[in-house]
Order: sequence, then structure tokens, then C-alpha cells
Amino acid sequence: MSKEFLRCIECSKQYDLYEVRYSCECEGLLEVNRPEPHRTDLKEEFDQRLLSRSRLDRSGVWRFREAVLGLPEESIVSHPEGSTRLYSHDALAKFAGLSILFLKHEGENPTGSFKDRGMTTAVSMAKHLKMKAIACASTGNTSAALAAYAGQAAIRALVILPQGKVATGKLAQTLAYGARCLEVKGDFDEAMRLVQELTQDPEIYMVNSLNPFRLEGQKTIMWEMLQDLEWQAPDWVVVPGGNLGNTSAFGKALVEAYEAGWIAKLPRIAVIQAEGANPFYRSWQNKFEGLTPISAETVATAIRIGNPVNFHKARRVIATLNGVVECVSDVEIATAKKNIDRVGIGCEPASACSLAGIRKLVASGTIDEGHRVVGILTGNILKDPDNALTMCENRPVTIEPTVASVRDQL
Ligand SMILES: *Cc1c(COP(=O)(O)O)cnc(C)c1O
Ligand SMILES: [Zn+2]
Repeated sequence: MSKEFLRCIECSKQYDLYEVRYSCECEGLLEVNRPEPHRTDLKEEFDQRLLSRSRLDRSGVWRFREAVLGLPEESIVSHPEGSTRLYSHDALAKFAGLSILFLKHEGENPTGSFKDRGMTTAVSMAKHLKMKAIACASTGNTSAALAAYAGQAAIRALVILPQGKVATGKLAQTLAYGARCLEVKGDFDEAMRLVQELTQDPEIYMVNSLNPFRLEGQKTIMWEMLQDLEWQAPDWVVVPGGNLGNTSAFGKALVEAYEAGWIAKLPRIAVIQAEGANPFYRSWQNKFEGLTPISAETVATAIRIGNPVNFHKARRVIATLNGVVECVSDVEIATAKKNIDRVGIGCEPASACSLAGIRKLVASGTIDEGHRVVGILTGNILKDPDNALTMCENRPVTIEPTVASVRDQL
């Protein structure tokens, strides 16, 4: 039925699109592949759909459906997601050292992070395959998204979280949407290993970003950005890197857009990690001669990952897009977040890596002050209210219920 198939990025072996597997026999990562590039004229169709009121056209993922995933409409589970804003604010451009800076806020998705874009495709596939249950390991946002989409589809959701390391907003969402939450005595990387073993059971579907359909949905972050820039590719796209799913999806999306003739040039990519969770940065410095897992620690809990599963895809993206990898300290993350918060945009700590990284790369001369740069804000400020309250000095003041005591505070 579908022209698409699964293909191993290492040995090129092909599998049927609907075969439930997350890696090749050779253990290589799988990606969705198509025999031909996307049609050039699809771009005009995507633009026309911006005026449409239909359910799928309203979704920032399914608006691009011909280039995302061929599923019958009745299998599609959509909230609808995407259609997130592209901000530009002079104060933030100035902070970064640029004349113009765009920030695409993926925290404006239905559950407050970009994970919804990959979850609509992965859960739709689970529904199509009539899966009994869906599972993931998560630092919190994947679990919130899974819980919401599985809730909509009435499929059981099981999530494995690193105990004590999930931000309050994310845990609250996951529980409220009704997923079964298991807190593992260990870190994310251990939770990930556990879920990989668990989902060898053919009735439990795994929706971590090892699942190639997650990345097909996440490609639309790039296409929506290009659409908002009237298909004039920026010079740079800058994104935080944890498990490196976005990095992999962005590379695929940009190459597909270029090969289809939707854009005339390829942007470069910069992946930003936290200093205490920087295995990809270290590997890049060693010219990608392998990846040494580390024990990760950072305030940016969404990217507190020491053994990124998409390493081999992401490494290729850096090569194809002439990319760079940078890392920033927790203090640099906090400073960037404070700037984003104070102009009323706001984001969770991991997202602030984008701005912190841009600032660092401009200072080092890698990014030119005149370049057009788009930073991705991956998650909403309310995801981590404890961090928001601890990090800002602004405090409520208790007063008597009189106008005089209010005036005293002005
Ligand atoms: C998942 C997540 C990331 C990391 O994205 P990867 O695709 O795993 O690299 C970054 N920020 C936020 C807010 C996230 O939820
Ligand atoms: Zn293979």
C-alpha cells in the first residue's frame, strides 16, 4: 500500500514499513525511506493548506502528510499539533550578538514540547498496527506526549522515568493523562535500556526516538520553519541535543526539502549540549571516532542523557550539513533562560541551550553576526516550575489588603 519502506542506515537492508522493528539485523538504526524525492509542487499545496480548516490541514505535522507518513486518515491520532510561532525579539538578538534572530517555540505544542510532533506519527502507527500497549523511557516530555496521545487513542501507556529527575510539570501531566508511571532507580540511560528489552515483546510498541516514525513527525519542525520564512532557508539552525532525535530528524527534513527543490540551499546546523551531558560534543571533538557514554548531570533535565541512541544518525547529519557541536554550562543555560523569560517568551531550561549556544558560537566567530539564525525552543516554561521559581530573584510580597500597602510597593 505504501511506497515507503524502512532502511538500515549502516547496511542499507530494507524492511516493510509495517514490520515492527527498531533496528536492523546488523543493529544499525532504521529510517523511513522513499524511492523518489518529494514532488516539487507539494510546496505550493502545503502553503494553500494554511487557509484550510480541515482537521489534518490544521495540524503542523499532517499538513505535510505526503512527505511524512502514508497512513489512512482513520488511523491518525492528532490533537492537532504544531503550527508553533516563530519569534524575533531585538533584545534577544542583541544578547546573542546577531542583527536578526528567530526562535521557533516548540513549547507551544499541545502538551508543551516538540515531542507531540513525533508522538502523533508514532501513536498513529501504533493504532494502525493495533498495538495493545505503548511504552517509552523518558526524561518527562516524551512521557507527557505519549500519555496524551495514547489517552486520545484509548491505548494503554507505560512510561519508565529516572526516579527524582523528572520536572514537576511533566510528571503531573503524565499522571493526569493516565499513563502507568514506573520510576526506575537509575538514570535515563538505564530506563532506555530497560524499555528496549521490554519492547522485544511484539505487543508493546516502543515510541522513543529509536522509532523511525517519531523522526518523520519531527521533520515538520523544519518544514514549518521554512514555510514561515517563505522557503528562504536560514544560514543556521540551532538545537539542543539529548538523545539526538531532533538533530537526526532536522537533517533528514532539510536534505529532503533540498532534494525536492523546496529550498535553494542547505542551512548549517549547530547542536548544543549541556556541559555535564555532552557525549556528542566529546565525540565530535574526536572526529566522531566512536561515542563514549558518560554519567550525565545538568539542570536541563530534558537533556540529561549520557548515551544518545541516535548517535549514528546525528553524526551523519553533522557531516552532511557542515554542522558543529557546542556545549554550554548550567550557568550559561540559566542566563540565556533568564533573557528568554524576561521578554515574555519563556522556556524550560534545556531549551535555553539554543540561545546560550548561539551566543557562544557568535562570540567564537563560528556564526557571523549578519547570519540569519533560527534557534529551536524545545519546551514550555511551565514544564519545570521549580526551576523557574528557584532561578529568578523576583518574589511575591505579602501586603495588608489596603491601597496604601499596595502603593508602598510601587
Ligand atoms: C526531548 C527534549 C530535548 C532533547 O531532544 P533530542 O531529540 O532527544 O535530542 C530537548 N529539549 C526538550 C525540552 C526535550 O523535551
Ligand atoms: Zn543493517
